[in-house]
Amino acid sequence: MNARRFGLIGASFVAASRVVPALRRAGVSVTSLFDTDAERFSLWQDQDLELMTTELSDFLSSDVDAVYVSSRNAQHAAHAIAAAKAGKHVLLEKPMALSVEDAEAVIRAADEAGVQLAVNHHLPGSPLHVTARRLVSEGHIGALYSARINHAVLLPESLREWRLEPTPGGGVVFDITVHDASVLNRLFGAPPARVTALGVSQAKWNHGGTRDSVMTVIEYEPDADGVAGIAQTHDAFNIPFPGTSMEIHGERGAIVIGDAMTQEAPGTVTLHTEHGTTAVDVDCSADLYDINVTAFLGATAGEGSPTTTGADGLAALQVALAAEASLASGRSIAITEARLG
Ligand code: NDP
Repeated sequence: MNARRFGLIGASFVAASRVVPALRRAGVSVTSLFDTDAERFSLWQDQDLELMTTELSDFLSSDVDAVYVSSRNAQHAAHAIAAAKAGKHVLLEKPMALSVEDAEAVIRAADEAGVQLAVNHHLPGSPLHVTARRLVSEGHIGALYSARINHAVLLPESLREWRLEPTPGGGVVFDITVHDASVLNRLFGAPPARVTALGVSQAKWNHGGTRDSVMTVIEYEPDADGVAGIAQTHDAFNIPFPGTSMEIHGERGAIVIGDAMTQEAPGTVTLHTEHGTTAVDVDCSADLYDINVTAFLGATAGEGSPTTTGADGLAALQVALAAEASLASGRSIAITEARLG
């Protein structure tokens, strides 16, 4: 069934600012909205919705064939499962759940209902990362050894709420590290094996006292050529400069991505080899949320697959869970342990 009528679970900022505009650009109708707090509907009065409700059952019985879930992180799994069981395709915000078991339950519910499930990681489909993966697979840097992501940014004042709270799903790891993992997992193409993380709380305005700056190291299982990978990320809410970037290192070269982890800025890809430094041409004109929405709609019509599948979302979540477990315990965590946490 081709998704043409969407409902929204979560009267969220990202829905209003990114995903609803992308859905409308794709020619899809957005007709209903569920949120647990009716006060949030006041911000949606001019969106021309047919239904705004705090009753999930009313929302799920409305005439929509797909649902975009951007509720609180701790509610993602329950909302996605309810939507899938109601026969709706599900475009689900990251992190797709807060435990492996819940993420697996989401995947199972979608499979059993025969609906499409996508996780809205906006970066793996970015032309910058697609280009970097192509350069690696074409052998431009030889064997892939390591990657380093700088995803340390300044959280806008308007978003300094639940992200800073020590509540389930709050903090840098579930907000940013999970995005890095969605990119790194695709790049290395082998399962993550172990994760070690350290973090501190630095910003004076961080009222929640949660770690607002986290550095994580991820070890990857050996690839098809027997080479194990290693990646390092810096994810933060309190770093205004110099913007995001990513380095990918190989046996014979390196790839540097400028503005690698943003929501919209066109970035740059530079290839460094013994032949010199080459700026790689990348068409960054497509909106990253349009890319995800288009792939998701295609999948609901039986064409292609989502940019980030449920299995991909689960793999990214496992890295985030292992990072959280490492922060809590002060030791390295095997991905298999994070499963139990
Ligand atoms: P918002 O803060 O706008 O809203 C998310 C939910 O949190 C709301 O539905 C609301 O649920 C609750 N909430 C919001 N503000 C408050 C508040 N002041 N006090 C109490 N509760 C509040 O979230 P975002 O748009 O920033 O993020 C929504 C989801 O999207 C998250 O899961 C996030 O991880 C993800 N996201 C993804 C991005 C991407 O690029 N893929 C980018 C940004 C966010 P309720 O009223 O039911 O309590």
